[in-house]
Amino acid sequence: MVECFASLQGEGFHCGQAAWFVRLAGCRNACAFCDTPQSWDMNAFARRSEEDLVREAVESGCTNCVVTGGEPMLHNLDGLCRRLHEAGLRCWLETSGSEPLSGEWDWICLSPKKGVEVREEYYRKASEIKIVIGSDEDFSFAEEQAVRAGQDCLLYLQPEWSVSNAITQKITQYILKQPKWRLSLQMHKFAGIA
Ligand code: SF4
Repeated sequence: MVECFASLQGEGFHCGQAAWFVRLAGCRNACAFCDTPQSWDMNAFARRSEEDLVREAVESGCTNCVVTGGEPMLHNLDGLCRRLHEAGLRCWLETSGSEPLSGEWDWICLSPKKGVEVREEYYRKASEIKIVIGSDEDFSFAEEQAVRAGQDCLLYLQPEWSVSNAITQKITQYILKQPKWRLSLQMHKFAGIA
């Protein structure tokens, strides 16, 4: 486990809502734009018990728990979700979809990455798909993902932070022509919060 903290969800449909974040260690995807490369090595972090994680989440007073990474699905999260639900928290997942799905989720944010195969079950179960846009070529990748999404799945385009100023205008123009998409800004980074 890399870190746990209370903050505001900065991205996607729940942007602006208070949540307890659980950042799990481990990721094999090595995305060039990753903003949490410190989380990749699972062995670099101490293991924590589910009981411990849930106790902290409850003590935070938050009613939403975002489980993120790294790639959290490198871990079987059946037990953690069950315990969080028993404690009255909603469970929100952030995943690339590269690993087998476990746990019961109230919200699944699927964020496919170029060159990383997404398991089919994620397209059926995703509440939202979020594509990071860093260059013009990423729009066609986004469309490839959108055709695989379920009917009620929300679709978000999010500027890659390092080129945010230049690409946000392009995303805006794109959404005006393709209004099935919504803009997701990383609100927490603009606000200077975790
Ligand atoms: S899947 Fe997420 S955590 Fe893993 S390398 Fe890509 S951006 Fe980073």
